[in-house]
Amino acid sequence: MTSRPLLETHALVKRFGGLTATDGLSLSVAEGELHALIGPNGAGKSTLIAQLSGELTPSEGRILFDGRDVTRLPPFKRSLRGLARSFQITSIFPSFTALDNVALAVQAHAGHSFRFWRDAGRDPRLAGPARAVLERVGLGARAATPASALAHGEKRQLELAMALATGPRLLLLDEPMAGMGPEESHRMVELLAELKGGVTILLVEHDMDAVFALADRITVLVRGKDLASGTPDQIRRDPAVREAYLGD
Ligand code: ADP
Ligand code: MG
Repeated sequence: MTSRPLLETHALVKRFGGLTATDGLSLSVAEGELHALIGPNGAGKSTLIAQLSGELTPSEGRILFDGRDVTRLPPFKRSLRGLARSFQITSIFPSFTALDNVALAVQAHAGHSFRFWRDAGRDPRLAGPARAVLERVGLGARAATPASALAHGEKRQLELAMALATGPRLLLLDEPMAGMGPEESHRMVELLAELKGGVTILLVEHDMDAVFALADRITVLVRGKDLASGTPDQIRRDPAVREAYLGD
C-alpha cells in the first residue's frame, strides 16, 4: 500500500516506574489499511492503544495523526478529529437501550453539547444514523433492548457501533473478540472485513487466523519494541518472528 500514513508514532516511550512498556516505538499506519498489532501478553499492545487514544500520556516521543501532532491532545479532541477507540463496556449505559446508547454517541460526535439524555434514540436526527450503525454491526433487531440485557458478544458489537457512530477515520480496536464464542467471533471477523477499506483500523488481536485473514500489514510487538512489520506473508516467513513469537 502506497498511501501516506494516517497515524505515525516517533520513538514513543512509555515507562511505568522501572518498567518500559513502550520502548522507542516508531509505527506507521497507512490510510485505508487494516493494520494488526500482535505480540505476547505484556508486550505493550494495550499500553500503545491507550497512548494513541489519549488515555495515557507518553513518557517520550510523538504521535502524529493526519500529519498533526496529537501527543498531548485529550481523548475527546482526538475523537473529534476522527481518531476513535472502540467504546468500552464500562462506558455503555446499562439501563439505556442499544439504540439510545448509539444515539448518544452520534450526539457526542455531532458536536451538540453533551446532554445526559435518556431518550436520545427518539430524536430523529440521532435515531436515523444510530439505527443505520446498529444494522451495520448486526444489532438491528436488538435496538430496543436495554444494554444490560445484551449477551457479552452483543455488548462488544454495541461498543463497536458506538465507535462507528462517531464517524472515525481511524478505529482503534483492542481485542474486539475477547470473551466471544466461535459464532460471535466469526461475525466480528465478517464485520471487520466489511469495514475494511472504508475506515483505517488498528487491530490488536490474538486470534492469528483472524489476523492473517484480515490484515494488510502486521506489526509484531515484543517487550515494547517493533520486532517486525510487514505483510502477512512477510511476517509468516520472518525467522525472528517465528522464533520469538509464532512458536517454532
Ligand atoms: P499487552 O496488552 O500487550 O498484553 P500491556 O500494554 O497491557 O500489554 O502491558 C505492558 C506492560 O506494562 C506489562 O508488563 C504490564 O504489566 C505493564 N503495565 C500496563 N499498564 C500498567 C500500569 N498502569 N501500571 C504499571 N504497569 C503497567
Ligand atoms: Mg492488552
